[in-house]
Amino acid sequence: LLLAYEPAKRLARVRISLESGIVGVRMMFQLADEPLTLAEKPDARPLLAGPGEIRFDAVSFAYQNGPPVLDRFDLTLAPGKMTALVGPSGSGKSTILNLIMRMYDPQGGKVLLDGQDISHATLASLREKIAYVSQDTFLFAGTIMHNIRLGRQDATDEEVIAAARAANAHDFIMAQAKGYETDVGENGGLLSGGQRQRISIARAMLRNAEILLLDEATSALDAESEALFRDALQQLTEGRTTIVIAHRLSTVHQADTIVVLEGGKVVESGPHKTLLKQGGLYQKLYEYQLMP
Ligand code: ADP
Ligand code: MG
Repeated sequence: LLLAYEPAKRLARVRISLESGIVGVRMMFQLADEPLTLAEKPDARPLLAGPGEIRFDAVSFAYQNGPPVLDRFDLTLAPGKMTALVGPSGSGKSTILNLIMRMYDPQGGKVLLDGQDISHATLASLREKIAYVSQDTFLFAGTIMHNIRLGRQDATDEEVIAAARAANAHDFIMAQAKGYETDVGENGGLLSGGQRQRISIARAMLRNAEILLLDEATSALDAESEALFRDALQQLTEGRTTIVIAHRLSTVHQADTIVVLEGGKVVESGPHKTLLKQGGLYQKLYEYQLMP
């Protein structure tokens, strides 16, 4: 079953996706100016539960009319661990996350979750397992309470507040005149970047998904926000399969494994200390502070 949506229908999809979670929302926006072709096989099945191992098996992928981005790409991401993807701009980091969320299907090879080919799974069961936090996480005009609750519609106020506490957002929220009923403004414009980010982390906490995909902010947060963000992140990633496109050294240090990409290939991988000693691309990126 191949679904191609007309623009008007895409708008309708956005509304529906709002109900089903962050990844859905993000996906619709990102694909808005491309033909949206999502294939859900007629015999698609929900993914079975598992520890959360993600594996790329000989994956080849190119964007429409573009050059190959990945060519028989292999990578295994350990369940429950945090992997940082680093590498120059254009090396394929975001594409890897796109493929895991199944915004696109590879032209060759498989992306497997606990051994199950995600292209044979229902989209709902895949997205249920994934929380995605990025620098431009969508906040919607509405209250802080509403924005956090997008993580899980049936969460109680108490659960929303617990998630906000865990994300180090509760104190700044309570400092607002209307607390959780404060309006965040169009795209969250009434809040600072650090505040928006902590709300998006609270949302992800509430979702309690098995897999966390994180595209870290490039924008410099002030020192206090950055420390709060790091603490929140530590809590959020605990025991989840986490992939972070890391721009901050503090996050890279935190990762169990660092995968260094260049031109769609893994050129190095290992923990921070090992890679530094190796004197390869990682060491260069690190030394010259070129961490993208
Ligand atoms: P990174 O996240 O490491 O900067 P990307 O995965 O975004 O790299 O990009 C890998 C390659 O794919 C780049 O050459 C980029 O120009 C291309 N690319 C990324 N997104 C798209 C897209 N939506 N359409 C076409 N080409 C894209
Ligand atoms: Mg990118």
